[in-house]
Amino acid sequence: MSRLLVIGCGGVAQVAIQKCCQNSKVFTELCIASRTESKCVALKEKIEKSGSSVKITTATVDADSVEALVALIRFYKPDAVLNVALPYQDLTIMDACLECKVDYIDTANYEPEDTDEPVWRAAYEKRCKEKGFTAYFDYSYQWAYEDKFKEAGITALLGTGFDPGVTSVFTAYAKKHYFDEIDTIDILDCNGGDHGYPFATNFNPEINLREVSANGSYMENGKWVETKPMEIKREYDFPQVGMKDMYLLHHEEIEALGKNFPEVKRIRFFMTFGQSYLTHMKCLENVGMLSTSPIMFEGREIVPIQFLKALLPDPASLGPRTVGKTNIGCIFTGRKDGKERKIYIYNVCDHQECYKELGSQAISYTTGVPAMIGTALVVTGQWKKPGVFTTDEFDPDPYMEMLNEYGLPWVVDENPVLVP
Ligand code: NDP
Repeated sequence: MSRLLVIGCGGVAQVAIQKCCQNSKVFTELCIASRTESKCVALKEKIEKSGSSVKITTATVDADSVEALVALIRFYKPDAVLNVALPYQDLTIMDACLECKVDYIDTANYEPEDTDEPVWRAAYEKRCKEKGFTAYFDYSYQWAYEDKFKEAGITALLGTGFDPGVTSVFTAYAKKHYFDEIDTIDILDCNGGDHGYPFATNFNPEINLREVSANGSYMENGKWVETKPMEIKREYDFPQVGMKDMYLLHHEEIEALGKNFPEVKRIRFFMTFGQSYLTHMKCLENVGMLSTSPIMFEGREIVPIQFLKALLPDPASLGPRTVGKTNIGCIFTGRKDGKERKIYIYNVCDHQECYKELGSQAISYTTGVPAMIGTALVVTGQWKKPGVFTTDEFDPDPYMEMLNEYGLPWVVDENPVLVP
């Protein structure tokens, strides 16, 4: 029995909210609050038509304003707040949760909207030098809330999507059941889906294109090794999808896994991309369309990547046209009882099946389901303790069971092909 406030009503939120309604023993009342309230109202009507018993209300909120968030939280009095807006809003929502002493859950690491802001920029440049990776996002801003959340007696669960999220739960599960020591982790994110457009992104274009056009990096013996964008390419034959090119990217769970599993000697992350996607992206980058710095256009300021977002298909609209499957998982090597061991834990998700069930494509689905699961485990007290945590820091078993129950069944292959 709980009341949940969900912030954001985009592709991921729509899945997370519908999945909360399937889990109505835990979630009895929901408030959907976002910038554009009409999207919240449309989703509420869709869910009510399906006969759900969950009591849904909607609200409009500017999640960049701590004051507006505090007012909404005080008015609705939720047991927890699920942030499925954008990473730009992580800190304002955490501040509001702290002020109201309410648990906080999200799916992505904080990053600033304006990467030219001088105070942030100076801290970023210092971090690049000290730590050796140049991604715009890192955990330091959210981990800095640890003492404050502890003192307030509330939980922050960070990054409960698929990657990060499930991939870190897979790591905790591998460690608990399959290994005494893990030596290497390769996280493989394969999207074998085809939406038929020459170019579109599967989740928020701004966040997606920033991530993919950045330098890659991986962790080796506790240190970051940085690569140029798309410098390391491998081919892999993904179960139920087939042979794909994949490229090494920086990804946020590497940082948390490196901290929480210091014995692991190497952690890498690979994502599949087709040649056409990469060519389009390079071209857009070369002409300046991926820039986050405002420019003047016909007497008004515009941010090129935000203008590009307005031109690209809305990721939430890709559902009906996307066919094919995703395969996301982790390959682990290490030892158990003195013997060498390797396993591959992965989930395969079919775009059209997601669309039939909830009206969304598999990228939103594979993120929204774990967002609901992480939130359910916090509000039921199974994953509740004061402080700031990532998903590898709790007992993985209840999460793994819920993945099977709520549409993301997983497989353990005990003899996988390794990535060279
Ligand atoms: P969308 O752009 O589809 O949705 C974002 C939503 O947040 C929209 O409803 C938007 O409102 C709302 N929003 C944006 N700014 C504000 C604001 N200032 N105040 C209130 N509401 C706001 O994004 P996605 O659903 O694709 O992604 C959601 C989150 O999930 C992102 O943080 C993304 O990084 C993360 N993600 C995580 C993954 C993982 O595996 N861990 C994978 C994929 C995504 P409006 O409708 O007005 O635009």
